[in-house]
Amino acid sequence: MAVQTVASTTVSAAGSAEPSVDLGPAAALSCRECGHRVPLGPVFACEECFGPLEIAYDFSAYDTEELRRRIEAGPANIWRYAPLLPVPADVATRPNINPGWTQLVQADNLARELGVTGGLFVKDDSGNPTHSFKDRVVAQALEAARAFGFTTLSCSSTGNLAGAVGAAAARAGLRSCVFIPHDLEQGKVVMAAVYGGELVGIEGNYDDVNRFCSELIGDPAGEGWGFVNVNLRPYYAEGSKTLAYEICEQLGWRLPDQIVVPIASGSQLTKIDKGLQELIRLGLVEDKPYRIFGAQAEGCSPVSTAYKAGHDVVRPQKPKTIAKSLAIGNPADGPYVLDIARRTGGAVEDVTDEQVVEAIRLLARTEGIFAETAGGVTVGVTKKLIENGVLDPSLTTVVLNTGDGLKTLDAVADSGLTATIRPNLESFREAGLA
Ligand SMILES: *Cc1c(COP(=O)(O)O)cnc(C)c1O
Ligand SMILES: [Zn+2]
Repeated sequence: MAVQTVASTTVSAAGSAEPSVDLGPAAALSCRECGHRVPLGPVFACEECFGPLEIAYDFSAYDTEELRRRIEAGPANIWRYAPLLPVPADVATRPNINPGWTQLVQADNLARELGVTGGLFVKDDSGNPTHSFKDRVVAQALEAARAFGFTTLSCSSTGNLAGAVGAAAARAGLRSCVFIPHDLEQGKVVMAAVYGGELVGIEGNYDDVNRFCSELIGDPAGEGWGFVNVNLRPYYAEGSKTLAYEICEQLGWRLPDQIVVPIASGSQLTKIDKGLQELIRLGLVEDKPYRIFGAQAEGCSPVSTAYKAGHDVVRPQKPKTIAKSLAIGNPADGPYVLDIARRTGGAVEDVTDEQVVEAIRLLARTEGIFAETAGGVTVGVTKKLIENGVLDPSLTTVVLNTGDGLKTLDAVADSGLTATIRPNLESFREAGLA
C-alpha cells in the first residue's frame, strides 16, 4: 500500500506523540474518521482505518484579544493567520507567493438584482497571484514540502492548481512537475506552463489523473516528490481556512449568516467550516448559527445529487461541464460536505452550463467582476437557491468567486465588439452610438 511506504520511510517516530517537525501550533495529524493520531509527516491516510488525516492544533496558549491584535498587525496576506496554520514561525520571511487578503466586495447591484436585502458580498479570490483560490492551499503545501525536505512539487489538477504549483515552485526555487487532463482550457494550460516547470497532460479526466498520481507516489519514480493535494493534502487543505478567517475579519469579526461555496473535491468547503468553528472556539467571533451551501455544475454534480436524494454516500459521475475546475466526478470530501450542509441548515445545489454562463455575465454586468466558470456556478446556484426559497435573502450572504474569467474565455466567447466603425464621427453616428 502506497500510504504505508511513504509513512515508514519519512516519519521516524510513527505512533509516538512527538511531532517530527515544528509547524507552529500544529500538534499532530488526526484521523477524521476514528481520531487516531500520528506525528506530523507527509502522510494523508489513517493507518488504522484509511480515513483522511487532518491537522490537529494546540491553540490553548492563545489569549483572544492578544491573538486578534497579532492578526490585525500582520501582513496583508494569508500569513496574518500564521498562528492558526501549520507553518514554521518564520514563514513570512521565506520566498512564497503570499496569496490572500483578497477583496470582499459589497455587491449591492447584484443584491438588488437577486432581491437580497440582508447584505450580499462577493469574496473575490481571482485577485490571488495566479488568479484562483488555489494559491492559498499551495502556499501551505509549499511550507510543508520544505519542512519534509521534498525537492519536487507536484499535483493532480483540474487546471488552477497546476498554475499555482508552478508559480509557487518557481518562487521557492523548487522543481515542479504537474499533471492535468489533456483537454483543459488554453488559459489554464498556458498559465500552468509559463512558470517553467514540467506540465504533463494525461489522456483521461481528472479522476484518471488523480489515480495516476497515487500510483506515482508509491513508486520509486515519485521519491522526493511532494504532491500538494495527495501526500501533502492535510497541510494543503488548511489553506482554505484562510477564506473563512478573511471573510469574518473583513466583516468586522462577524460571521456571515450564509456562505455559498463551489465544490470540486469538497476540501475547500469542509475547511471553511473548520475555520469558522475555530474562530468561534477562539472567541474571535460571536457563537451563532451559519449556513454553508455547496455549488456544483449539473454536468458534474455527484454531491448535489446525493444531497437531493438524501444519501450519505456520493456515487461517482463522469464529468461533462464547462466548469472544468470543478469537474471532479469522485470527490474525496463529498460525504463531509453533505454532513456540513445538513448540519448547518444549508443545501447543495447545481446549475446547468447555460445558467453558469448567464451568471458569469450577471456578475460582470452588476459588479465588474469577471469570474471563471466556477464563479458562474456559485452565483448561478445563489440565484437558484433564492428563487427556490432555500437561501434567505434577508440574511448576510457571502458568495465565493474562486477564479478569473480570463482563464475560461470560451464560456463567453460570443462577447465582442458592439460595432466596427471608420475613425470619424459620421461613422460613429451611423452606428447609432451617439
Ligand atoms: C479547485 C477549485 C475549487 C474547489 O476545490 P475543492 O477541491 O472543492 O477544494 C473551486 N474553485 C476553483 C476555481 C478551483 O480551481
Ligand atoms: Zn482512522
